[in-house]
Amino acid sequence: MIDLRSDTVTKPTPGMLAAMAAAEVGDEQEREDPTTNELQRRMAELLGHEAALFLPTATMANQAALRVLSRPGCKVVAEERTHVLIYEWGGPAIHSGLVMQGLVAEAGRPTPEQIEELDEFGPGSVLVLENTHRSSGGRIWPLDEFRATLDAARSRGAAVHLDGARLFNAAVGASVEPSTWGTLADTVTICFSKGLGCPFGAVLAGPAETVERAWEGKFLFGGALRQSGIAAAAMLYALDHHVERLAEDHARARRLAEGIGLDPATAETNFVPIPDEPGLRERLLERGVGVGDLRPGWLRAVTHLDVGDEEIERAVDVMQEVLSVHA
Ligand SMILES: *Cc1c(COP(=O)(O)O)cnc(C)c1O
Repeated sequence: MIDLRSDTVTKPTPGMLAAMAAAEVGDEQEREDPTTNELQRRMAELLGHEAALFLPTATMANQAALRVLSRPGCKVVAEERTHVLIYEWGGPAIHSGLVMQGLVAEAGRPTPEQIEELDEFGPGSVLVLENTHRSSGGRIWPLDEFRATLDAARSRGAAVHLDGARLFNAAVGASVEPSTWGTLADTVTICFSKGLGCPFGAVLAGPAETVERAWEGKFLFGGALRQSGIAAAAMLYALDHHVERLAEDHARARRLAEGIGLDPATAETNFVPIPDEPGLRERLLERGVGVGDLRPGWLRAVTHLDVGDEEIERAVDVMQEVLSVHA
């Protein structure tokens, strides 16, 4: 199957596995794992923050961040289809006692006006912004809009967490550094098991004191590991080998969109949003092309490390036969 369901399906490359096998390791909980320490140092720098913390998943990084930034009974506010609101099993309510409020927003981008109009939103509450925004099709936040919405939350006294699971896709797509957005938010999550091609792993960055307190969540959620350098080595390898190449994924997404008669500009990063039709996914699967869910009424084809130009051309051929959009 040409697997375009998600960029999570990638398998570690031989180079990545070799880096993992050669990793220098120690006990992470004693902060003696040199590879994890190096990853944290590099990520803090890349994201424009004082410190960073390795966590096994981005879900855990988001939850640890919310726990540090909020107070029970306050709110977490985000666009209604963000990961933190719909794919983390009520975590903000369960782990941090937060009221979860979703906002309807174009391209996953709540406006400053929406933040100004919120009830019961102030100190102890958190605004979560997602970049790229998954459910709108991997869209990138323009920096001026990002800053305006973030400033609106700050002026209410709330904190801002950036769920940058795919922030490297945004950075490569917009040709800017990830710290461009990262440094503006109180805390930032990065996921390494998406386009970066690692088996698992995430990082949370922020001010030194905030990251220090995030260790509580890491222990509480069972994410304090031992020889985590095995994972950190894969993540360092991804930083060196799998970031710039995201541009290839983006070019292939545009090619796929164009090939099936969609506007290539709808593929801002590595997602191609495809209007759903009854039975479409099954018909594609029968012909060897896997696509995933985007949001109600829409499917997605996601490009990644394990699909090349040939697979994309074959997917275009299959989709042209099966889809009605290009007609
Ligand atoms: C995948 C994803 C996460 C969670 O990442 P895991 O490492 O799988 O827990 C969080 N936020 C967004 C936007 C994601 O796409």
